[in-house]
Amino acid sequence: MARYTDASCRICRRENSKLFLKGDRCYGDKCAFERRSYPPGQHGQRRSKISDYGIQLREKQKVKRMYGLLEKQFRSYFEKAESQKGITGINLLILLERRMDNIVYRLGFATSRNQARQLVRHNHFLVNGRKVDIPAYLVKPGDKVTLKEKSRKIGLILESMETVARRGVPSWLEMDKDNFSGQVLSLPTREELTMPIQEQLIVELYSK
Ligand code: SF4
Repeated sequence: MARYTDASCRICRRENSKLFLKGDRCYGDKCAFERRSYPPGQHGQRRSKISDYGIQLREKQKVKRMYGLLEKQFRSYFEKAESQKGITGINLLILLERRMDNIVYRLGFATSRNQARQLVRHNHFLVNGRKVDIPAYLVKPGDKVTLKEKSRKIGLILESMETVARRGVPSWLEMDKDNFSGQVLSLPTREELTMPIQEQLIVELYSK
């Protein structure tokens, strides 16, 4: 499957935002964005005026890259959000949060969404007791995500579960570390989605 191959930290600098793509490193003083919070490249430190379109485009790119999606996938989430009742921008963010790889990351089984995606693909998780190895699978309230018995000794998962306290588990999810499982209590509200995203800009971009 196609994917971004740009260095993760370069993407954060390009989008002028910490996107937390590299796991633990993102929380320490080695974060490249903390050290050089200007765009990469020879002209990165130049100040240039950015148009309204440019601002909208950058916001869309930021969110797309935060969740590790390609344009076609992101666009289809937008179309789905648009067809739902309610506010399109918020619907979009909720759909993205419901992805199985995001849930695995949010529960602390992985240090980044990228790592979570690999773990899901490699068939380490069950949802309500059934195998789910599709990162785009959308969980719903009440679903229980469990790490398979045979995967409970994998070092990188155990390490991630130890360090999740740094970012915390969102209030709409509940983690049961002793049983290697987590539950979706409800869909997140906009207030519970604390990432610095201006979803309205994405709606404006796609509505042109
Ligand atoms: Fe982005 Fe910093 Fe993480 Fe690199 S270390 S991916 S710059 S948040």
